Amino acid sequence: MSWVTEHPPARVDLDACVTCGLCLPVCPTFRLTGDETASPRGRLAAISAVDAGVLGIDERFSDVIGFCLQCRACETACPSLVPFGDIIERATAEVVAQMPSTVSRVRRFAATTGVGTPWIMRGGSILLGIAQRLRLAGALERLGIPASGLRRIPIPLPTARGGSWGASDAPTAMLFVGCVADVWFAEIHQATIEVLLAAGYRVESPKAQTCCGALAAHDGLTDNAERMSAANSSAFASADLIVVNVAGCGSHLKADPELGSRVRDITEVVADAISDGRLETLPANGTSVAIQDPCHLEHGQGIVDAPRAVVAAAGYEVVDADRDGLCCGAAGTYLIDYPETSTELGERKAAAVRAGGTKIVASANVGCEMQLRRFLDDSYDIAHPVEFYARARRGK
Ligand code: SF4
Ligand code: SF4
Repeated sequence: MSWVTEHPPARVDLDACVTCGLCLPVCPTFRLTGDETASPRGRLAAISAVDAGVLGIDERFSDVIGFCLQCRACETACPSLVPFGDIIERATAEVVAQMPSTVSRVRRFAATTGVGTPWIMRGGSILLGIAQRLRLAGALERLGIPASGLRRIPIPLPTARGGSWGASDAPTAMLFVGCVADVWFAEIHQATIEVLLAAGYRVESPKAQTCCGALAAHDGLTDNAERMSAANSSAFASADLIVVNVAGCGSHLKADPELGSRVRDITEVVADAISDGRLETLPANGTSVAIQDPCHLEHGQGIVDAPRAVVAAAGYEVVDADRDGLCCGAAGTYLIDYPETSTELGERKAAAVRAGGTKIVASANVGCEMQLRRFLDDSYDIAHPVEFYARARRGK
């Protein structure tokens, strides 16, 4: 038997590929290498071969699968609607199950126990915050920790977990705070809460929520991702609306059978409130903002217009950060596994932003924001679309 997990790649999904090749031009790894095995079609062929028992799971197969950024640009391009993201997650889970290694055990800890346990996350964050103050970000980068992409971590550490804001009789938006975002990107939560209150919501952030599980799922750690999903299903059981402000988390949560139909990205919620008049459109300020489209917003959730509408309503002229649209190379833990490819893609993205001329960039995904900051200098102002809207409201 080729597969050993409970939910391997499904034959029906693999057979949906008609090998047309329309996905190849949008695939970053194929574009960089020109290698068919680094393309969506090539990866599907390899997975099909394992499914048929022609290939076994070995180092070569592991690399064909692991080299994929899971950016899902191929899904958007595919006329046969091949669910590539789901297939690659299931294939990755097979690699983890059939090729256990010390590396995979360390990753299991970092991607699940580490980020999903508040005291570990917070302890590590304090150390990172101290390293920032000692100007050790460069040294951490050399050790493979992308510290130069971080915003300054406040000490004492913030948290929006367990909070509630606004009138008790207003419709409630439940805020998903995430693991790293809660500690490292508190300003995004602050702006989110502020703008949701202005739109007429009460905001609650359940204390029992945990990491979304996207990192674990992308790393093939299905059991851990399912445990996190169960914890979040219980924490958000009473929610009608779950608001997420990190595209990677939102994309994963929208695929959750329990939670998915109630999850919305903050840019969708704010764009709706602007369009129906609950939030105002602020006067033009003569400044342009480059919009970066995170893969997990554009391809994972099909959202392209909402961040533009939010930034435009904040008074900015909206421009595209990168018309080519290739993944920035952050992709969860990819920058640790394939640092050269991640760097090449990060530099391409930064070059596209520089070529556009504007020094203000909006990104709705914290991973992309960190990658942009690593490759752009300090003169660039990089923030979430909802932060630009909140800032504009504060200054009105
Ligand atoms: S998910 Fe991205 S990197 Fe992976 S095959 Fe599809 S387009 Fe290529
Ligand atoms: S676009 Fe879809 S059907 Fe065509 S080769 Fe790529 S995955 Fe297969």
